[in-house]
Amino acid sequence: MSRLVLATANPHKAAEMRAVLSGLGFEIEPRPEGLGEVDEVEETLEGNAVLKARAVAAAAGATAVADDTGLFVDALGGRPGVYSARYAGPGASDAQNVARVLAELEGVASASRGAHFRTVVAIAEPDGGARWVDGVLEGRIAPAPRGENGFGYDVVFIPSDLGGETLAELSAEEKNAISHRGRALRALAELLRR
Ligand code: IMP
Repeated sequence: MSRLVLATANPHKAAEMRAVLSGLGFEIEPRPEGLGEVDEVEETLEGNAVLKARAVAAAAGATAVADDTGLFVDALGGRPGVYSARYAGPGASDAQNVARVLAELEGVASASRGAHFRTVVAIAEPDGGARWVDGVLEGRIAPAPRGENGFGYDVVFIPSDLGGETLAELSAEEKNAISHRGRALRALAELLRR
């Protein structure tokens, strides 16, 4: 059975990836122990996802999967985008990042608060060869945080085509069924199946 090594150290993401990618004939392995963090120095999600997948593929000597996600807010010219994890500064908490986005959107009307999440999932081989797919979730930024579930910007992201709940007001199953990461992972499963 071919090996497929996960680059993420986040147990929730690893579980979500295993759920979508199981049954495709791969031996799914966790991130190799002792591998340091890969600095996300690229300026695109694709660049960073490929960078991380290549580092893990080289270390593990097997095909590796890595993901990178950003929140793109229309009224902020696409920010925080690739800098979503550290928008309020290096080591910023989710609450601090959310607070910065809300502060920058102060006074912006609901109709102009459009945004989307985008996830890129890359697979790389030990020889450096790489491919990637993506998934997008359209929505808008709420006036204030709402909900207890999820993480990151979920408390202020209202997906289009639902009843106005934020992602943090949905169950994990409801979120995975529509989310940017769920879509990207299903596209990857399709790529691996071919
Ligand atoms: P990463 O690429 O998954 O590490 O995420 C980059 C940034 O986007 C971090 O600030 C995360 O908290 C945030 N983020 C990633 N995925 C989601 C999501 O599904 N909901 C809300 N925020 C997310």
